[in-house]
This record gives sequence, C-alpha cells and structure tokens, in this order.
Amino acid sequence: MTRSRRAGDLVLSFSQLDLLAKCPQRYFRRYILREPDVVGAPLIMGRAFHEAMQANFEHKMEAGIDLDANRVAKIYRDAFDRESDLPGFVDLETLTENQVDWGGQDPKELREQGQRALLRYLKQHAPFLEPLSVEQRLERQVAPGVKLVGMLDLVTAADVVVDYKLVNYVWPDSRVQMSLQPTCYAALLDRPVQFDFHFITKNPKSNVGISLRRTERTRADIDWLLDVHIPQAVRLLDQELWLRSPSDQCVYCPHRLGCGYRVQESAEE
Ligand code: SF4
Repeated sequence: MTRSRRAGDLVLSFSQLDLLAKCPQRYFRRYILREPDVVGAPLIMGRAFHEAMQANFEHKMEAGIDLDANRVAKIYRDAFDRESDLPGFVDLETLTENQVDWGGQDPKELREQGQRALLRYLKQHAPFLEPLSVEQRLERQVAPGVKLVGMLDLVTAADVVVDYKLVNYVWPDSRVQMSLQPTCYAALLDRPVQFDFHFITKNPKSNVGISLRRTERTRADIDWLLDVHIPQAVRLLDQELWLRSPSDQCVYCPHRLGCGYRVQESAEE
C-alpha cells in the first residue's frame, strides 16, 4: 500500500494521471512528497479568466443573458491582482509554495493581454453559449479505494463539454484528439461526450486569438480508461516505481534539483 493510499481513498484527477504518465518521478515529488511547484504567469491568467467566465455563465443561467462585459473584466482584474501579490520566484533552492515566475514579462502587460482575450471571448463566443452547468465538480469511484475527480468548466445546453485554455499556441490536432482530459470527463459523466477546447491564445506581440477545436469520446474510450489505463496507473503507484523520464519538460521542472537529473546545457552558442 502506498503512502498516498494509507490516508484513505486515492484521488486521481486528469492532471495527476497526465503527470504520472509523463514522469512518475515528477508525480512522486509533487503529489507524494508535496514539494512546492512554481506558479507560472499563464496559470494566474487562466485562473482569473475562469473566475470571470464562471461569474458570467452563472449569471446567464439565472438571468438568461451574459453579464455586462465591464463587470466581467473587473472580476478578471480583481482575481489577477489577488494572485499577482504572491512572492516572486528567485531560484529552485529557495522555492516555497506559491511563488510566481513571470518569465521575465511585465505582470501589468500580461494582465492587459488576458483582459483583451477575455473581452474578445465575451464578444465573439459567450453570446452563443447556453450554459447547462458551470464549474461542476464531479467524482466517481473507479476502483476499490480509488476516486476519479474533475472540474468541468462548462457544459452547454447543446450537451457539449467546453474547456477554456489560455495558451501561447493552439495545440496540434493530434494532441487534441489524444488528450486524456476529455476521456476523464466522459468517464466522470459516464457517457460519450462531444468536447470543445476553446484555445485563447496570446502571443509575444500581444495579439489575441481564439480557436475552437472539437473532439469526441465514446463508450469504448471510457472502458479503456477504466479497465486499462487507471488500473495500470494504480499498479504503478502501489509499486512505488518512481521512474525518471527525462524529456524537454525537465528544463521547466521545479523538482529537477531533488530528482538529480542533470539538464544538459545547449551546445548552441
Ligand atoms: S527533472 Fe525531468 S526526470 Fe526529473 S522529475 Fe523533473 S521531469 Fe522528471
């Protein structure tokens, strides 16, 4: 029995399953040892965006119309400002939980970029979305002592699950089609789903773009997750095989000091 399961149910989310598949050692350091992670600027922008859209769509479920755009923008700015007061990241040796790495960018400019993206989304897409549920937390027992959990950004009246992603670039179609996230959400809903990723992109030139990408998950996908993937993940956790899986993610990994994997310097000048 692993450390994580002695305390009760093992709780797995999509992001935990994803991290475990990418690098078990990173999962171990983050979720078992609870080593601190760095808060990146995109996470702060994304959380503020989610909070603002949650307020908008909750209002729309009650009143039938979107909130005034200025009010939604204020909710975004307030949420962003709350987190932008967190201490700044210096280096991995002095890292504590909730330090923000702005990546050398000006927080004020990032705040403006996020607001531009939000206002554009509110104008171009929100009016056409009819919310059925907003920020709905779901959980499901998927094996004895194992729970799958997830938070669905939005389910529309047309029965489409929507997930907003504030990103620097739109994912290639292969990543959209193979993502574990829609499969986890279909399992949580216990039915096939149509799933739309709403990519809100902000590039270094401060241009904002919005791209929608659809994928679907069937009953067979759900069965694969529940009968194959999750049981294998649980076996991996029970055996405590915390394999190091070096890849390009090591450069940004907040656990690379403890992991001991030496990130090679680039040979290019
Ligand atoms: S540095 Fe690389 S190998 Fe080590 S935990 Fe991080 S991602 Fe995994």
